[in-house]
Amino acid sequence: MDLLVRALLALRSTVRRFAWIVLAIAFGAGLVADSALHLEARWLYAAIAFYGLVLLASIRRRIRHAASEEQSALPDTELGMLLAVGVMGTILAADGGLDGSTWPLAYVLCVLVSVLAAPAATVVVVGWLVTLEASVRFLAQTDASLVPLLVHGAFCSVFSVIAMAVLRVEIARIRLHSRSRVEAEIERMHDAARSYRLLSATRRAANAAPSAAVAADDDPSRLVRSSVEEIHQAALFALELLRRSMNLNTAMLLWLTDTGTHLRISELTSDSEELCEGPFQVGDGIFGAVVADRRVVLLSDLKSSYRLPYYPGACPVRHVAAVPVLEHDRVRGILVVDRRDDEPFSAEEQEILSAATRYVLRAIQNERVFVQLERAKVEQGKLYRAARALGAALSERDVVEASVRSAREVAAFDFAAITIYDEAKKTHEIRAASGDGSEALVGARYRHNAGLVSMVVQNRYPLPYKGEFDAAHQVIFTARTQPPAMPSMLVLPLLVHERPLGTLVLGARRRNAFGDSVRPTLEVLASHVAVSLSNARMVKRLEELATSDGLTGLLNKRAMLEMAESKIAAAVRFSRNMSVMIIDLDHFKGVNDTYGHDIGDVVLKGLGGILRKTKRATDAVARFGGEEFIVLCEETDSEGATLLAERIREELQKHVFQTPKGPLQVTCSVGVATFPEAGRDWEALFKSADEALYVSKRSGRNRVTHCSSRRARAA
Ligand code: GH3
Ligand code: MG
Ligand code: MG
Repeated sequence: MDLLVRALLALRSTVRRFAWIVLAIAFGAGLVADSALHLEARWLYAAIAFYGLVLLASIRRRIRHAASEEQSALPDTELGMLLAVGVMGTILAADGGLDGSTWPLAYVLCVLVSVLAAPAATVVVVGWLVTLEASVRFLAQTDASLVPLLVHGAFCSVFSVIAMAVLRVEIARIRLHSRSRVEAEIERMHDAARSYRLLSATRRAANAAPSAAVAADDDPSRLVRSSVEEIHQAALFALELLRRSMNLNTAMLLWLTDTGTHLRISELTSDSEELCEGPFQVGDGIFGAVVADRRVVLLSDLKSSYRLPYYPGACPVRHVAAVPVLEHDRVRGILVVDRRDDEPFSAEEQEILSAATRYVLRAIQNERVFVQLERAKVEQGKLYRAARALGAALSERDVVEASVRSAREVAAFDFAAITIYDEAKKTHEIRAASGDGSEALVGARYRHNAGLVSMVVQNRYPLPYKGEFDAAHQVIFTARTQPPAMPSMLVLPLLVHERPLGTLVLGARRRNAFGDSVRPTLEVLASHVAVSLSNARMVKRLEELATSDGLTGLLNKRAMLEMAESKIAAAVRFSRNMSVMIIDLDHFKGVNDTYGHDIGDVVLKGLGGILRKTKRATDAVARFGGEEFIVLCEETDSEGATLLAERIREELQKHVFQTPKGPLQVTCSVGVATFPEAGRDWEALFKSADEALYVSKRSGRNRVTHCSSRRARAA
């Protein structure tokens, strides 16, 4: 039954999906039938009207589909097939056959479909057109000749293929063209930014691949772009002003490229149509003189035969002035102005030109400060967020997670690890590692060696130099324990008061990932991480002190009472057994009296060790006070608890303590009680176990008594 319903549902959805195709086929069949049987006019008009409605609906479907995200060739196919029926009908109506003058309409349809529809739809529509033609020829007109059909089919295919190919090539060409234009524009912007020294602080913008680390709101390349635009506006304004007020032909600001070998046109305003684009050699004619002398150079009474580097043909001007743009006594660029009129540049004009160079320089310096401030603001924001996240992390694990997350905000990397250094043992341990399948490194321990992590811990300085890693000559951890091979690696020391706790190791597949722009921030981050790690350790230590017994390291009474409450609550909720045992050393006062208190303590620690070794993972052991110990055993009935108690008793009995007064052996007595028989709360359970212990003591010591045993009940 279920199968039948599912089959029907599947059929229904298939019919729905292909209903339009079926309709197109039905119209095609109708067309063939009409050309064979010549249907009555009223049927014909009804069919045409219905066809028109279906066609409109199909066009609407296609438009809706185009607006949606869905990628399917079905709507194109349906519409193409319907149009093919329409075109074929039109041809037959106009020419009365398929070899008349309107046949090229079919080719138009093929080209349209190839350009607008998906390739799969084009193939189906061309196939359908050929099928329709064949049906009309062979079924309706009983035309035996294959040749016209083959010729039409071949042309349809050729037109479709050509249209598709031309379209795809054109799209690829436009894409390539626009991509190279965008890239050239970005490169030009970066060139300008570098030559204005805007990029020294934000080099990452030029080098880094776009990454999730660089959020949209602190996109450094956007910042640099806006600064370049500001400088452009300021410089252009100055040039326009000069040109109009001094009646200049050309006013041009040239800027030294960051290599210092060429001069690039930074801004230009001119009446001349033809000017060389540059860049120009620094030594070219008048430019060379300005750069060498670092002062204004004037050329006067020029003839048209004179060659100026920036005019391609005859010299159109009479007077030229070239003023150096000086920053800290170094030439950074040249302001070049010229005039057609025979009017030399006066001393006053030269002073105005010098003032203009200072104005442009100040605009650049302002932007430089602005970029640095903006960048500092962004870095501070990242560090602030990191400090908050790290401050909230109280456990080592939380600190590790917050560190990696915060580092990701500062730099993009593919590998991160945190190592901890044990000063006493002189060993390093990889506490966390993530990225590129490096998780297997976690837990690896190794001795202090000549690897980078060891060197960083020793020298308290980040390595390798500039974060450029040479896998052939350098080792991060050890020769055997290696992180994934990457060209960029950075090991940062985690220092608290100059004491190294360990290191933060970052790696990236891309070169120069840890350049000058990110290293200082990462170093500050590492110091936050170090403080948080040390805090997390302190918190852990305090917790341990508050919950454990100083002599044996077992739980103390307070912690045990808390644990007992929660374990009893769990036992009640899940109706499970639970046992409590109290262990008391026999004649311990005698041990203290004979061997001294210190040996007594050694015995207490020894029993603590035996309990820790013998208990199961889910049992909890506490020193309850003096020489009494308690073991809480989850999901343990009286039999299991008695067996465990016996094992403890035997282990202690066997153990020989070496003392200055010779070997010492001690025994213990144990009382056991089990939930729920012996009591449903802690007080009742403890009382039952204590009574059982009393029975053990009274009946000769060095034994285990369960409170359900007859003697215990008698007591
Ligand atoms: P019993 O077999 O009846 O238990 O005899 P006992 O001597 O062990 O008697 P009891 O349990 O009353 O003795 C407790 C002794 O444990 C008293 C005290 O000297 C000793 N003691 C308690 N706390 C410590 C400790 O921290 N260190 C040492 N060395 N002895 C302790
Ligand atoms: Mg006691
Ligand atoms: Mg005792």
